[in-house]
Amino acid sequence: MRRGALVRGCRARCDGEDAVERRSWAEPYRVKVVEPIRMTTRAEREERIAEAGYNTFLLRSEDVYIDLLTDSGTAAMSDQQWAAMMVGDEAYAGSRSYYRLEEAVRLVYGYEELVPTHQGRGAEHLLSQVLISPGDVVPGNMYFTTTRFHQEYAGGRFVDVIIDEAHDPESLHPFKGNIDLDKLQAVIDTHGADRVPYVSFETNVNMAGGQPASMANIKAVHERCRHYGIPVMLDATRALENAWFIQQREGGYADRSVAEILREVCDHSEGATVSSKKDNLVNIGGFLAVRDPEIARRARTLLVAFEGLQTYGGMAGRDMEALARGIHEMVETDDHVGARVGQVEYLGDLLVKAGVPIVRPVGGHGVFLDARRICSHLAHEHLPAQALAAAIYRDSGVRGMERGIVSAGRDPQTGEHHTPKLELVRLTLPRRVYTQAHMDVTAESIAHVTDEAEQIPGLEFTYEPGELRFFQARFQPLSG
Ligand SMILES: *Cc1c(COP(=O)(O)O)cnc(C)c1O
Repeated sequence: MRRGALVRGCRARCDGEDAVERRSWAEPYRVKVVEPIRMTTRAEREERIAEAGYNTFLLRSEDVYIDLLTDSGTAAMSDQQWAAMMVGDEAYAGSRSYYRLEEAVRLVYGYEELVPTHQGRGAEHLLSQVLISPGDVVPGNMYFTTTRFHQEYAGGRFVDVIIDEAHDPESLHPFKGNIDLDKLQAVIDTHGADRVPYVSFETNVNMAGGQPASMANIKAVHERCRHYGIPVMLDATRALENAWFIQQREGGYADRSVAEILREVCDHSEGATVSSKKDNLVNIGGFLAVRDPEIARRARTLLVAFEGLQTYGGMAGRDMEALARGIHEMVETDDHVGARVGQVEYLGDLLVKAGVPIVRPVGGHGVFLDARRICSHLAHEHLPAQALAAAIYRDSGVRGMERGIVSAGRDPQTGEHHTPKLELVRLTLPRRVYTQAHMDVTAESIAHVTDEAEQIPGLEFTYEPGELRFFQARFQPLSG
């Protein structure tokens, strides 16, 4: 597989060394269709964010200039994917597009049994219902909102076994997504292996800032689990980006393609849930994929009740067709993921140079602002990250999201707020959508807001939903 100058440029950046001969690089695609975006005035934005209850999730997209809310389902599809949409087979049963998807998943991820769902959480729902019994404990490397929700909804309890460095925004550990084997062992010893239905291993951990696990760690966890007969289930939503970091940072992988590395990551697991709205370059879709036909059979019996028939799950034929193409496309050359992560690093570098505190090393899908340091005048219960995200929107129309105390929710037992160590604003880059000029504008705005951060007022809830509260909560500025 060919890896060009782009990849070498990224590697120099990852190593943090100033390459002697450093050339500019550009996106490995050109624009064929454009979507105009509307500019707004500051006065308009003041009004819009107040109407939205200071929650960036409640803004209308047309009021946003550069939308970095999420990289979920926001990718630009390729001309080949759009062409694939036209040949989707919309048969209710036995769709040709399903078999194309099954083939892509088998080839790229290596799992035999495919269970298609409407998106990642659909797959998490099925896996949790099939494997978790009430009272079970599910160890995982930092929680993800929907993943933990479904584990708890099935009667399980999530226990975080990620390494301590993941909770430290200043730690430069290259694999902050690793599982701490001692913490994992302690869970097994305390509860017994038969109360641990599986280990939930997320690749390129979203809530830690898009931080990878190393191949050595993935392998060690799999070996430990095999000893106890506990399956390892990946959240492989961002496994491509994880594979890229392994290639860049882990000894012995520099000359392996991301396709080979991705496959090796999956080889150390019994199955995976995937939100196809991320790595897979489509706007909707997801799947559960496993090796054990019995788990697949049980998941399919629920699938027909909650998603759809086994050969479409929650997707149209054309969606499956574009997804199959996206799965091949993401690993066809290493340049795609190199440019994707490279753009994130580009934005991160600009912010570091401007003195903005961010989580480092910069992760795979976005830049995470350290809101506790930027808004050091605000107490944790005054929601610094929520307040900072609103302030950035007011300044420039750039939309990010809170990833801190609001996202973490409340402990179901005690009713208290979870108080995560990380209080972050996430700026997530859609794949193949924005140019480096958009990154320049974003960095300038954030540098400006950071300089004047002491003027940002804290927030309090005016409406707090019971589940996944960050999506729909409303706030008001603290008076005084
Ligand atoms: C997005 C995401 C999910 C949930 O997927 P949806 O498609 O949004 O339901 C699960 N895990 C991770 C790591 C994600 O990034």
